[in-house]
Amino acid sequence: TPHTVLLATTKPFARDAVGAIKTICEEHGLVFEKLEGYKDRAELYEAVATAEACIVRSDVCDEEFFSHAKNLKVLVRAGAGVDAIDLPAATNHGVCVQNTPGQNSNAVAELVFGMLLAHKRNYFDGNSGTEIRGSSLGLYGCGNVSRFVILAAQGFGMDIYAYDPFLTPDQIADLGAEPLYDVPSIFKCDVVSLHVPATRETKQSIDGKLLRSMPKGGVLINTARKNIIREADLLKALVERPDLSYLADDKPENTEEIKESLGEARVKKQFLVTPKKMGAQTAQANSNSGIAAAKQIVEFFRGGLVKHQVNINGKHF
Ligand code: NAD
Repeated sequence: TPHTVLLATTKPFARDAVGAIKTICEEHGLVFEKLEGYKDRAELYEAVATAEACIVRSDVCDEEFFSHAKNLKVLVRAGAGVDAIDLPAATNHGVCVQNTPGQNSNAVAELVFGMLLAHKRNYFDGNSGTEIRGSSLGLYGCGNVSRFVILAAQGFGMDIYAYDPFLTPDQIADLGAEPLYDVPSIFKCDVVSLHVPATRETKQSIDGKLLRSMPKGGVLINTARKNIIREADLLKALVERPDLSYLADDKPENTEEIKESLGEARVKKQFLVTPKKMGAQTAQANSNSGIAAAKQIVEFFRGGLVKHQVNINGKHF
């Protein structure tokens, strides 16, 4: 019997991307099913009960999910961050979990500069703004997204620095950034951009001390995860320092409190959050990551190369 692939997304992919995923599955003899924009977990559990492969986006895949997914062999996160997936639970249920790194990285990098430039030009309200040429840029994490950020930042004439303990200083230099050796050094830059996964080390790693250490007019851009930052400290730092700004793609839990505390005029100057996560929301990123996910599933069932598995040998990233 042919294997069934379920595309389960609370936040649906662009239609072309769904079409491409379906085509790849069917061309390779797989049965394609989809559950888009589901409202409750029961719908997801029912849909996944018979699937042997599943493609998700930021969808939560916890122990309960895996216990309902009786036939599941492979789960592909179309995207980079696997923090919504309980990897030890997946391993216990014998499910291979993969992601599709690099496929949405350019989209995220373009959002970084979109937010930064709009902010520096006062959202084009007619008031004089400032330029980014000659500013320093500090990157926390130097993976796929940072690589595209570096390429753009070179074009903008920024001085680029990066901290990533999983790369050698030479590797960071080869990517076009000057290597840094600790997190506090990143926060000496005019613009700091966060590109680390949410892990035990990075969660809650940005505290008031780091925020207060930023230079005058410092801008912190977060297209990673909100839980990298201590949100109470963020609120305090923004209130205390009218020159600091926070531009983010993952809305802090205390967004309303931040907005109330700053007041309208300062919100405009200091605080930008996208209404929904927008980083990977481009036609290209949807297609790239969806197609990559479908191809990885085809390979998995062919017994070919298992790419980008994130729960190998009990090691969880
Ligand atoms: P990636 O895995 O390619 O790169 C992450 C880098 O962080 C790696 O080079 C890794 O070595 C480094 N790193 C890990 N732990 C670190 C630590 N403690 N200190 C410093 N560096 C560390 O991932 P990516 O594609 O560049 O994406 C980065 C993160 O951005 C993702 O994990 C995800 O949370 C987020 N993301 C968000 C969107 C969005 O829609 N806003 C889209 C893609 C990714």
